[in-house]
Amino acid sequence: MHSPANGFFGYTGKWAWVDLTERTVRIEPADAAVCRDYIGGRGVQARVIRDHLAANGPILDPLAPANRIVIGTGPLNDTPVPTAGRGSCSFISPLTRSPGPAPWIAQHTPVHGLLTHSSAGGIFPNMLKRAGVDHLVIDGRADRPVRLLVTESGVQIIDAERDLFETARGKACVRGASDTTDFLAAKYPGSSTMAVGPAGWNGVAFACLTGDHHRNFGRGGAGAVFGSKNLVAVTAHGRRMVRPFDPATFERLGRTVEELVRTRVLDPQRTASFRPTTGTTWWLDRAFDGRYMGTVGGYLPWHNFDEGSFDPSDYAAVGTAAFLEIAGRHRVCNRCRHVKCSRTARIDGGPFAGDGMRPEFETIALGINCCVLDRAAIFHLNRRCNDLGLDTMTLGSMIAAAMEMTERGFLGAFTGAPVFGSSADMLRTLDAIAYQSSDVGCLLGGAADDVIARVAASRPSGERDAIASCATSAFAGLGYAGVEPKVFPGMFAAYATSNRGRGDHSYAWTIQAEEGGLAEARQIAAYVAESQVGKALIDSLGLCDFFAGDITSDLFLAMYCALTGRDYNVDGLLACGERIYALERHVNNLQGRTRAYDAYVHPKLAVPLTAGPHAGKRVDASVHNAILDAYYDYRTWTRDGVVGQKRLKDLGV
Ligand code: SF4
Repeated sequence: MHSPANGFFGYTGKWAWVDLTERTVRIEPADAAVCRDYIGGRGVQARVIRDHLAANGPILDPLAPANRIVIGTGPLNDTPVPTAGRGSCSFISPLTRSPGPAPWIAQHTPVHGLLTHSSAGGIFPNMLKRAGVDHLVIDGRADRPVRLLVTESGVQIIDAERDLFETARGKACVRGASDTTDFLAAKYPGSSTMAVGPAGWNGVAFACLTGDHHRNFGRGGAGAVFGSKNLVAVTAHGRRMVRPFDPATFERLGRTVEELVRTRVLDPQRTASFRPTTGTTWWLDRAFDGRYMGTVGGYLPWHNFDEGSFDPSDYAAVGTAAFLEIAGRHRVCNRCRHVKCSRTARIDGGPFAGDGMRPEFETIALGINCCVLDRAAIFHLNRRCNDLGLDTMTLGSMIAAAMEMTERGFLGAFTGAPVFGSSADMLRTLDAIAYQSSDVGCLLGGAADDVIARVAASRPSGERDAIASCATSAFAGLGYAGVEPKVFPGMFAAYATSNRGRGDHSYAWTIQAEEGGLAEARQIAAYVAESQVGKALIDSLGLCDFFAGDITSDLFLAMYCALTGRDYNVDGLLACGERIYALERHVNNLQGRTRAYDAYVHPKLAVPLTAGPHAGKRVDASVHNAILDAYYDYRTWTRDGVVGQKRLKDLGV
């Protein structure tokens, strides 16, 4: 066990500061006050990045050495609490940026990349903790390819072996993430690796980091930041467990929390009961036609977010049942019990035959949004993205935009442009993006506004706005998730105000509440804001979104106290969540984000749906602005979306 002599229980109490430019590592005690105020994981990382910006100014180029990337865990990681295997990665994103000019956006203001947090499971996060550090803070850029090794003996910067590279599409590149992981697992038996894939090495703005073959720090471009630092992988290996403050009480209360989670997963009246079987794919049926305790459906995006429904006879090939048919055994994150959303999958026969993981709802939904109705191809796309290191969600949005540009005749200057409904085009395009190996691959590997600018430059000037109307992630968006943005005003507000960028669904999820009647602007604003605070805490604790317990219950707080020695009441814990969210927003304000970003309504989303149970619905800018007013008021931010100095001071930032 880690010695509690440093005053930390539940944490290792150590942060490693890595400077790749200077090739130095310092391991220092964690800041106890920061851990108290920001919990761990995402919260601590936001604070460490804020301090970096405070000392050095905004990050204007996220692929420059000045960008800092932090990987680490929270106090609950590697404890027996169900789902305590999720780690955090934070950085300024190379994707959510639009430095301008962007004359296709009337209210455009420069945005230089938002603070992004990604969460990943598997065993890597817990292995990092066992190796003895809570956070790796990585600065600078190495002068040649390197990797990091974290063990109980410390952190080493090691020259990357030639075996980790190959010549692909005519140029030197790192191998796929699985090859890198296998190579390092053979070298360090029992270890776990988080690796960049070819996409990150080639600077693709939505490249992810892949751990344990299929777990990803997925959104926002962590892979590109690694690539920009000449950093191939981080390998962790350790066996030490952290010591609870009061081991006997922690064990007793932890068992009670686990029993509660188990009971909830067994309760058929709770959506948690679907997860061990369907994972997240039950949302396909719910979004399409309202099954799985929904209402009418009609919000599964189709044809680049034009519609929320399509022919039911086409749907069967890619619905929940279709992906249940190919599902195999559970393969879950370390410390996950009961909820267990992840399963392997197998395709028998055909060009994509073989084993892999069952794709998640969002991956499938955003493939459907490209009118791709081929289960095997979506399975393979998911497998290929895990190896090449691409975020399947932004990829889906980007390819949907390209398909619409093709349909409308805008991509004549780019060979290999994909067309709607073609799984072959989609798969070919994702490889071309990862390897930056064709006109269209190089085009689509950047942020949305760069894509619009390049296509517009190839066409007559009068087509510029029409070209921009194809890319829903214009104005520094992250890319919308798999819920049609036109249907739910609350979900659109959640998309708009997520700290990690427009389109993110994971910081607040309003669908059940809106289907249940949530509709008034102030109520929506409060619901979104409170959800975002809860999610900030979950990420900071080291838990999964699908943890079925209640982190504000007396039971959980008592268990947390027995783990860490920190005695929060409900208000104290929620204040940490509010502080984290406000601090992240403050960083984003420094990076250029204001109300103009949150209020942006892409032209396509103002066009009503023409079919399905929500026909006629569209994003109404006046409704959205009323929710934004209420949201900023609720948060005590300015009506321009800025966290003022007084608010920061009140929150103790
Ligand atoms: S519920 Fe799924 S994502 Fe969450 S910890 Fe378990 S296996 Fe991982």
